[in-house]
Amino acid sequence: MESDSTSNYEAIVHKKIKEMGEKGISQQELARSVGLPIREISSIIKRLVEKKLIIKKAVKENGKNIVKLFAVDNNYNINIYINLNGLDEIPCLSCKSLTKCGNGIHVSPQTCSKLSGWIIEKALS
Ligand code: SF4
Repeated sequence: MESDSTSNYEAIVHKKIKEMGEKGISQQELARSVGLPIREISSIIKRLVEKKLIIKKAVKENGKNIVKLFAVDNNYNINIYINLNGLDEIPCLSCKSLTKCGNGIHVSPQTCSKLSGWIIEKALS
């Protein structure tokens, strides 16, 4: 489990990387700007990468390849609408074999004629 100070440092580092936006920030710049030792920054970066909050990317600056850190935009704003009409007609809801049914076993959705028939009927209607 993470200590409070560890997660605080993580939040500070993550915020700084986010602030840099598309410009990104190198690990050395980051260490200087947040005032943490490079070793501490390295382990925080590793954790943020594992959590998929940031990515490392090589960019060319002044003819040199530099590894920079970029925040990952996880703020998706997508509306998905699902038509639930007819959901109560799915044969599984009234099936006596429901508790015995599963992938890869004798009674399964892959081999069920009731389910296949219902799907085909819905697709054709
Ligand atoms: S897939 Fe077939 S057997 Fe399995 S629960 Fe649904 S209707 Fe029943």
